[in-house]
Amino acid sequence: MRTAGLRTAEVIAVGSELLGSTRLDTNSLFLSERLAALGIELRIKSVVGDDRDDLASVFRQALSRADLVILTGGLGPTDDDLTREVVADVLGLPLDEDPSILDGIKRRFERRGLTMPPVNRRQAMVPRGATVLPNPNGTAPGLWLEHDGRVVVLLPGPPREMQPMVEALCAGPLRERAGEERLYRATLFVTARAESDVEQHVQPVYSRWRDAAPPIVTTILASPGQIELHLTTRDRDGAAAEGRLRDAVAQLTSILGEDVYSTDGRMLEEVLGDLLKARGLTIAAAESCTGGLFTSRLTDVPGSSAYVHSAVVAYDNAAKIALLDVPPASIDEHGAVSEPVALAMAEGIRARTGADVAVGITGIAGPGGGTPSKPVGTVVVAVIVPDRPAYVRTFQLLGGRAQVKWNAAQTALDRVRRLLDA
Ligand code: AMP
Ligand code: MG
Repeated sequence: MRTAGLRTAEVIAVGSELLGSTRLDTNSLFLSERLAALGIELRIKSVVGDDRDDLASVFRQALSRADLVILTGGLGPTDDDLTREVVADVLGLPLDEDPSILDGIKRRFERRGLTMPPVNRRQAMVPRGATVLPNPNGTAPGLWLEHDGRVVVLLPGPPREMQPMVEALCAGPLRERAGEERLYRATLFVTARAESDVEQHVQPVYSRWRDAAPPIVTTILASPGQIELHLTTRDRDGAAAEGRLRDAVAQLTSILGEDVYSTDGRMLEEVLGDLLKARGLTIAAAESCTGGLFTSRLTDVPGSSAYVHSAVVAYDNAAKIALLDVPPASIDEHGAVSEPVALAMAEGIRARTGADVAVGITGIAGPGGGTPSKPVGTVVVAVIVPDRPAYVRTFQLLGGRAQVKWNAAQTALDRVRRLLDA
């Protein structure tokens, strides 16, 4: 029996090292992306140690749920590499030695002037009826099995071996077995709103799409300093899917307004860079609590030398005075974390550099230094752009030191974006 088309997948990452604290399963991330391009949805993924019973139980469950089960890892030559044996056992298939695989492995060793150790024989064992998938970058070949209408694929664990094999599968047999439908996606990036606030505003709209034919599935994801809305739909007709997603994105954007900074995958620093470039403006920043992170993020974007002029990290009050001409009286009167000082920092860097856009950021990243009136997370952002009144505002940001720094940079990037976009 053959499934009409593979629609759902489950990935099992095998390896005790992946259960420890130092190694992450990254293979499933790669697989998820490649499968999605074929319209095959990764529904469940598991990480299992090198244990026969655990692997057998997880594999049995996966077989009962998914059209396609992909196992990575555990195809090595040593005793703890069990995937081949466990899969054959669960499927009730005997293992036969494949002379051409054995030959290939022997030759791989000979090319390096070595003799194949006897343990490598294991890697030539093939469950009866399996198709062997060549591995150009290692000794362990992959295996493709069909079982009761399901497809089971075994791949080696090392990403540099697994990835080219997945590419070959996606160009060939997996593409043939995938349905004609493909998955299409769109992402909206939203700033300055809480996840629950975004949810409350957009849920009534996207809940209707879920029940439409064909449906659009929406997920909301909070990530540092922003909220992401992921839209997914499925169609045979790519133009129809893209059109449906475009309409959906337009509806969400009209609800969330200028809090949506990107619908085309660009990060905040790229969006701001593009605005600066389009208007032919340069930018300079006077940074205190962000320690240069604002400018670091701006300069992560290739080509940012077209608009990033300079930055000063003025952490100490003396530096604010000496490098940015912040009036000492202003610091004495209002404190270093205050709107007058943030403004003076922006004005100072603008006067010293001649940049068109100037930013001042000062705040309390913590964990120490907070007071009742200025608790940890108090961050002041000042922005000067041409032909508009200077902007300054105090924000209360949440989180530990790293998060406050990140969110302060995020808030400053976002404020400049809004002022230039208006
Ligand atoms: P194996 O195929 O089990 O011999 O895996 C060999 C090596 O591949 C492991 O030591 C890991 O470094 C790497 N590896 C295995 N599984 C994964 C995975 N799911 N994601 C990333 N790396 C992996
Ligand atoms: Mg392993």
